[in-house]
Amino acid sequence: MLQRVEVGQVHLADYRPIVGEEIISEIRKMAAPLRGARVLHVNATPFGGGVAEMLQTLVPLMRDVGLEAEWQIIAGAEEFFTVTKACHNGLQGMDIPFTAEMKEIWRRYNKMNADAFEGEYDFVIVHDPQPAGLLTYHGRTGGKHWAWRCHIDTSHPNPAYWEFFAPYIGAYESGIFTMAQYVGPGVNFAHLAIITPTIDPLSPKNAPLSPGRAQEIVARFGLDVARPLITQVSRFDPWKDPLGVIDAYRIVKERIPEVQLALVGSMASDDPEGWTYLDKTIRHAGEDGDIHILHNFHGVGPVEVGAFQAASDVVIQKSTREGFGLVVTEALWKGKPVIGGNVGGIPLQVLDGQTGFLVESVQECGEKTLYLLEHPAEAARMGMAAREHVRRNFLVTRHLRDYLHLFHQMLEN
Ligand code: UDP
Repeated sequence: MLQRVEVGQVHLADYRPIVGEEIISEIRKMAAPLRGARVLHVNATPFGGGVAEMLQTLVPLMRDVGLEAEWQIIAGAEEFFTVTKACHNGLQGMDIPFTAEMKEIWRRYNKMNADAFEGEYDFVIVHDPQPAGLLTYHGRTGGKHWAWRCHIDTSHPNPAYWEFFAPYIGAYESGIFTMAQYVGPGVNFAHLAIITPTIDPLSPKNAPLSPGRAQEIVARFGLDVARPLITQVSRFDPWKDPLGVIDAYRIVKERIPEVQLALVGSMASDDPEGWTYLDKTIRHAGEDGDIHILHNFHGVGPVEVGAFQAASDVVIQKSTREGFGLVVTEALWKGKPVIGGNVGGIPLQVLDGQTGFLVESVQECGEKTLYLLEHPAEAARMGMAAREHVRRNFLVTRHLRDYLHLFHQMLEN
């Protein structure tokens, strides 16, 4: 059997004060005919990164509305995760080789996990490229309806990678993508769903935190809360461009010498490249004591991540590719304007000039950060618009509704 991930309890009714009665009752209506449906989510890691973050809430919420939802992870060793990280990079467009040996490793682990698949489900949702071969190698037995959920930006993939994955992906009845332009050539799903990720407003990371408490937490890590703070929360990954963030901070530092930068990034179990990129980031920061590079091994858990987002004056997400960017959603929800790279799902969230600024370069990132630090009233106004934008569009209740809608569509076939 694949390894099961345990999740806590979550109650839909608790979201009523935030999203309103209409949405709650609509979800209940949609869920009623699906009562007892067996739903399995499969991904590669129980923590670190956006997918694990979402499943932690989505799975218990599905249970709360009557579905028998479960979450399992595939097994893999370092050789597999090194290959899947290359697949992640290749599918996002990186110019890297895809050797016969790499393909063999990917297939071998997918076959092994397909053999370990047990149970009977009505809906199996396979997340991201790591386990994408499950359906091909296991066959349809065990799941009546299969969907593949893509969380990455596949708008400009390296063709060698896309061509390899297309037959595996195309085998699924449904494809779920964050944006329509992520659907590459050669795959035709019976159901194509465009669903953006969402955050849980009640999770420890996103639940309300008083400014005093947020500052207290941030101060524990050696930051001076009386001085301006810029933060980027992200895995240490080339697409998140932490080196570019440091360069943008240096532009700000020339005019505001007291500014501090926090680069907060968890190390995910399926991301061996993270350690190399962390080293690279530390080297790029050099001896500057106002750059704080922190990760989960320093004790930065969900509450601390939330505190950094809440205690920052400006939050940056300078990605050069980004499937969606949950960290952007999280920061906007805390009423912070976000300066984001103009890529992938970021423009859905950062409405230029309204909820933050979209930028194309280090220079622009530095300038917009300076602008927001020097115009706090405008930053506060944008922060309010930011929170409302998330409330309307990017909370987990909407996500649940989208899944229920897709399940209904799949049942009609
Ligand atoms: N995250 C975290 N601790 C960290 C860094 C990231 O908990 O030190 C979380 C972050 O808050 C977000 C998720 O991991 O919920 C990252 O999702 P996103 O979509 O931004 O990027 P991904 O890592 O999936 O590419």
